[in-house]
Amino acid sequence: KDVVSDASSFRELMVSEPLVRSLAAAGFERPSPVQKAAIPLGRVGTDLIVQAKSGTGKTVVFAVICLERVKAEQSGTQALILAPTREIAIQSEQVIRALAAELPAPAPTCGCFVGGLPMVDDEKKLRRLCHIAVGTPGRVCALLQSGRLAGSGLGLLVLDEADALLGDSFYEDVTWVYDQLPKRKQVLAFSATYSPELLADLEPLMRKPQRVMMCAGAESVSLLGVRQYFALVPAEGEAAGGAGGGEEGEAEAASASSSSAAPAVFRRKVAQLLRLLAGASFHQAAVFCNHKPRAEWLAAQLSAAGYPAAYLSGDRAQTERMEAMDAVRGFKMRVVVSTDVMARGVDLERVNLVVNLDLPAAAATHMHRVGRTGRFGSRGVCVSYVTRAELAQLVGYVEEQIRAGGAAAAAAAAAAEA
Ligand code: ADP
Ligand code: MG
Repeated sequence: KDVVSDASSFRELMVSEPLVRSLAAAGFERPSPVQKAAIPLGRVGTDLIVQAKSGTGKTVVFAVICLERVKAEQSGTQALILAPTREIAIQSEQVIRALAAELPAPAPTCGCFVGGLPMVDDEKKLRRLCHIAVGTPGRVCALLQSGRLAGSGLGLLVLDEADALLGDSFYEDVTWVYDQLPKRKQVLAFSATYSPELLADLEPLMRKPQRVMMCAGAESVSLLGVRQYFALVPAEGEAAGGAGGGEEGEAEAASASSSSAAPAVFRRKVAQLLRLLAGASFHQAAVFCNHKPRAEWLAAQLSAAGYPAAYLSGDRAQTERMEAMDAVRGFKMRVVVSTDVMARGVDLERVNLVVNLDLPAAAATHMHRVGRTGRFGSRGVCVSYVTRAELAQLVGYVEEQIRAGGAAAAAAAAAAEA
C-alpha cells in the first residue's frame, strides 16, 4: 500500500506500458494523489466511491480504468460513462480519445452521446466501433431504449459528478440505465463531496465498494490555490455612495436603454466587473449569472467593452454550445459568461478568475463555480459581487463548504475503520 501511495509514475501504478507512454505524451507524467489511490484499485475491477476536490484529475482516473478494462479486440460497447452536462461528457471523450490515440492497434475507441445532436449520428458511431461510450443521461436512456446501444455488454459504469447524477433531476434516468446493464458490473462514482444520503444511494448500486476519500483530516473541500473575495454593491434603493458612485451612475445611464432585462443592481455589478477586468491581469475569466437573458446580455456588453465573451447556457443550440467552448478553449475568447450549466466539471486550464454576478441557489453550486479555477493546483481568484443581503448568504455558503470538508473527513475515517 505504501508503495502505491509513494508511486511517482503511472508505471508504478501497474498501468500498461503503452498507456504510460500516452499519458506522458498528453502531459501526464506523474499521477496526482487521487490517481495514485484510485487507479490501482479500479484497474483490477473494484467498485469505487472516489472523493477528491475539483481539478485534481478525476477524469484521468476513470479514463485509465476504462482504457485498461475494455477489450479492444472485441467489438461492442463495454464501458459507459455518465455525466450531468454535455460539456463534461464531451470533455471526457476528448481526454479518452487523446490517450487512446497513442495506443497500439487495436486501440479502444470512444464515442460521445449527448442531447441536442442528431441521433442518426449516434447510430453511425455505435455501428462503427465504440468500446467506451460517454454521455448525458437523457440521450443514453434514449439509445438504450431504442436498442441502438446494447446494455447487456456494458460491464463498467462510471458516474462522474455522482452527486448530480443521483440528484433529483437525473435520479430516475440514472437508476433506469443502471438496471439495463448486467447485474455483475463494475461501478465507479466520482464527486467532490458526498452527503450521507448520496452514500446511502450509492452503496446498493455497488459490490463491496472501496472508498477513496482524499479530503482526510479537517481539510476543507475548498481549493488551496483559490482566494475568494467579495465586493459590496448597493441594493435597490440604497444610496450608491462611496468612491466610484459617479462612475456607476454613468455606466447605468449608458446601458439603461439597451438593458430592460437587467435591473439596476445587476448593472452596478457589471460596472464594477468592467473596472475589475480593466485593472486586473487575468488569463481567462468565467462569469456566472443565474438568468439566461442576463447572461446573454452581459456577454454582449463585455464584448462591446473590449472583452470578447462567449455565452453558454442550456437553452442554446448544442452546436452553439460547442462553438462557445471551442472558442474559449482555443483562447479566442477570454471571458465565458454562463449559467450553472458550466458550474461543474468543465475544465478550462487558463481560467484564473471566477466572477459571481448572482449567487447560486445552493452552497454546493458555489463550491463548483469556484472550482472552475485553480485547476490541478494552479492559482485563481473568485470575486462575488453581492448586496448586503447576499453577503450573509455567501458567508453561509463558505461556512458550509468548510463543513463539507469535515463531513468528507468523517466519511474517510469511517472508511478507514471498515
Ligand atoms: P476533476 O475532474 O477532478 O475536477 P479534471 O479531471 O478535470 O479534474 O482535471 C483537472 C486538470 O488537471 C485537467 O486540466 C487535467 O489535464 C489536469 N491533470 C489531470 N491529471 C494530471 C496529471 N497527472 N498531471 C498533470 N496534469 C493533470
Ligand atoms: Mg471532473
